[in-house]
Amino acid sequence: MNHAIRVHEYGGPEKLLWEEVPLPEPKPGEALVKHEAVGLNYIDVYFRTGLYKAPALPATIGMEGAGTVAAVGEGVTDVAVGDRVAYATGPIGAYAQSRIIKADRLVKLPDAISFETGAAMMLQGMTAQYLLRRTFPVQKGQTVLIHAAAGGVGLIMVQWAKHLGCTVIGTVSTPEKAEIAKAHGADHVLLTSENLPSRVKEITGGAMLPVVYDSVGKDTFLPSLDSLAPMGMMVSYGNASGPVGPIEVNLLAAKGSLFLTRPTLASYTAKREDLLASATDLIDVVAKGVVKIVVNQRYALKDASQAHLDLEARKTTGSTVLIP
Ligand code: NDP
Repeated sequence: MNHAIRVHEYGGPEKLLWEEVPLPEPKPGEALVKHEAVGLNYIDVYFRTGLYKAPALPATIGMEGAGTVAAVGEGVTDVAVGDRVAYATGPIGAYAQSRIIKADRLVKLPDAISFETGAAMMLQGMTAQYLLRRTFPVQKGQTVLIHAAAGGVGLIMVQWAKHLGCTVIGTVSTPEKAEIAKAHGADHVLLTSENLPSRVKEITGGAMLPVVYDSVGKDTFLPSLDSLAPMGMMVSYGNASGPVGPIEVNLLAAKGSLFLTRPTLASYTAKREDLLASATDLIDVVAKGVVKIVVNQRYALKDASQAHLDLEARKTTGSTVLIP
């Protein structure tokens, strides 16, 4: 028997239904993965509400999981039955006890990395990897701003940016979250209630920032632009507060010849060699203990609706896993 969380219509957390679903045989190029842990990510909320559309309804949402390969289809060479694996680049379908996925989306997990850590780290960690090392490759000595610094992606980015020699400014909504971000290396933590550009001006002695990594979207877009130095890079990579509306291109000129990008993990890992390079880099920093994957919440997969409620209510910190 295979159970999964399915969405029949877009809406609130109550639309996440635990149902029995069939489990097909893997076709050529596919693998059957028996999940030991499933990752919870903000993108799951977008697929539940319909901000991002599933290919068809009913849909099993979820981008990330870790487990064991239980069967493979014809021609699969990337993994074999019995391998410990994890994945994070979709397509959706992870909120299930077992699922079929293209084998070339799977990454082998070393024994040193538990299934829980694998499921917690792949999506958020590879995102931190491409943002800090490819979208805007940070240099030692730079000061960078990371929004939602006590969140899943945020807490990994804070640690990794410190490891790369940056001074890290984080933003969070509560003093408790500020303590968490500081405990993981953030040099300065600002509350979302503070005036961001004027606090950045104080901290940087007027120089402002070469880069802002903004996952919050609507609420922080303009203050983030105003925190950049001339020719700075605005990396708008998420919509936790809602999507950023249309913007005038000339705004980037007026605010100092700024760069703006809206990157996704999907583009940065579309080629298997990029996926493996990103995962290898992540596994390396996690195995060395340079980046700790902080799993602060665990829920049974069938209770995914409670996990969504807590994530959207900003109650979670670090990473969250769902146990099938
Ligand atoms: P988080 O654990 O960071 O949770 C979201 C956090 O956003 C909250 O804890 C909260 O932190 C902050 N936030 C600010 N405003 C709101 C709001 N109105 N409602 C809810 N939360 C708010 O989630 P993830 O680590 O899973 O994802 C972080 C972001 O990164 C998401 O926007 C996600 O879509 C994006 N992302 C983008 C990727 C890409 O490739 N483009 C890949 C992975 C993630 P606080 O209370 O401290 O403000």
